[in-house]
Amino acid sequence: MFLKPTRDPPFIPHHMRAPPRRPTHSACQFCGRWGHRRDLFKIKDGPVTWFFCNELHAELWLEYRYRRETWRLMRMLPAEKAEYLGGRTMEDEILRLFPEECDPKPP
Ligand SMILES: [Zn+2]
Repeated sequence: MFLKPTRDPPFIPHHMRAPPRRPTHSACQFCGRWGHRRDLFKIKDGPVTWFFCNELHAELWLEYRYRRETWRLMRMLPAEKAEYLGGRTMEDEILRLFPEECDPKPP
């Protein structure tokens, strides 16, 4: 007989369970740097909240998230991104892919 898996163990009554905890930390969507949510730059896009180190990373992410060369990189999880970059920064990778564009690093 097939039993549908349940999300919670059935032996803890609902009123005795601990309330779900809200996440307090998040990674920058652009570079993957981990930080406390209250210190990160936040963009609310409908029901979705995106977190960034600063407004420059938010602008760069908005600029490059739909480009054909960078959309896959922008969707990577922080660990995948760090492995793919291998010590380089996201700005270096963007400069490698788009050498004709301006330097995305701040002056
Ligand atoms: Zn960042």
